[in-house]
Amino acid sequence: KKYASDKKLSPKIEMLPENKIDNSKNQILAEKISVFCGDITTLEIDAIVNAANSSLMGGGGVDGAIHRAAGPKLKEECKTLGGCLTGEAKITGGYNLPAKYVIHTVGPQGEKPSDLRSCYINSLRNMTEKNLRSIAFPCISTGIYGYPNEPAAHIAAYTVRRYLESHTDNVDRVIFCLFLDVDIKLYEGLLQSYFPLN
Ligand code: ADP
Repeated sequence: KKYASDKKLSPKIEMLPENKIDNSKNQILAEKISVFCGDITTLEIDAIVNAANSSLMGGGGVDGAIHRAAGPKLKEECKTLGGCLTGEAKITGGYNLPAKYVIHTVGPQGEKPSDLRSCYINSLRNMTEKNLRSIAFPCISTGIYGYPNEPAAHIAAYTVRRYLESHTDNVDRVIFCLFLDVDIKLYEGLLQSYFPLN
């Protein structure tokens, strides 16, 4: 689903500061953003992001789902990576997944905005450094790691917006993969704020 409608924004939604937004790119950026509601392991795309833990050895939530769907070779490759620090990201193959690559990032435990921002930026950097053009994000840290959904969604949308402004020609598509109703409701309004069509 594309967020290309001109529906009235919820007044509760905090906008990007006017002076920070490059409005000349609204149209082109809005066309690169999608949401998908469901299981990230089903997406046929260049890269899906895994909300991993620092061992990179697999775990619960989306991490467990990705390892199950990718098969045991994913863990074999992860073993060679020496773990991953909070806010950083490391890329592996996708193995049995329809996605070509998995970008593993370790979100903060609790509400730590700069770490969460780093997860999005470093994942996007991994994508562009490999000349990949499409990526899907789960709602990093908002499950087991306990980041509150609304501030996490703002960081996700804001950080992707800023990255796309500076790397517009390198990225075809960013998908926010939403798994819970609470996030579906949040992103509905929020993406229209951060990616307006005019
Ligand atoms: P974290 O430890 O970073 O909080 P979780 O996996 O616990 O990671 O949760 C992150 C988000 O991923 C939550 O919104 C959770 O509902 C969602 N999620 C769980 N399984 C999947 C899946 N298969 N596809 C997409 N999102 C998922």
